[in-house]
Amino acid sequence: MADQCLFCRIVAGEIPSTRVFESADILAFADINPQAPTHVLVVPRAHVAGILELDAASSTWNALIAAAQHIATDRGLTNGFRVVVNQGEDAGQSVAHLHLHLLGGRTLAWPPG
Ligand code: 5GP
Ligand code: ZN
Repeated sequence: MADQCLFCRIVAGEIPSTRVFESADILAFADINPQAPTHVLVVPRAHVAGILELDAASSTWNALIAAAQHIATDRGLTNGFRVVVNQGEDAGQSVAHLHLHLLGGRTLAWPPG
């Protein structure tokens, strides 16, 4: 655990969150500032700063995707959803702990049309 990492502290339960999925390696919780009717953050329990720091040979990416599939199915997002990972400053990454944004619902402004 990285001491000052917000999402490590959420994983540890030091900061409250609305948990929507948990497995041995993954935690998913509601985004505090939702941008869609469903906006869930899916994170590895172990600290990984971002996509560039992820060991692509590890099982972490598969576990993140499996969790996203589970949540999307559970939420009945049969009409579609979006999975987003922001990496670095230009992408607007504000929390340096790898996370998938799972966005569902029809209020998404991008791409237009
Ligand atoms: P990023 O900009 O790094 O891709 O996404 C970080 C996300 O974390 C943002 O969507 C933001 O709303 C969310 N977030 C920031 N602080 C908290 C918090 O304390 N609790 C929860 N549940 N989400 C947070
Ligand atoms: Zn962390």
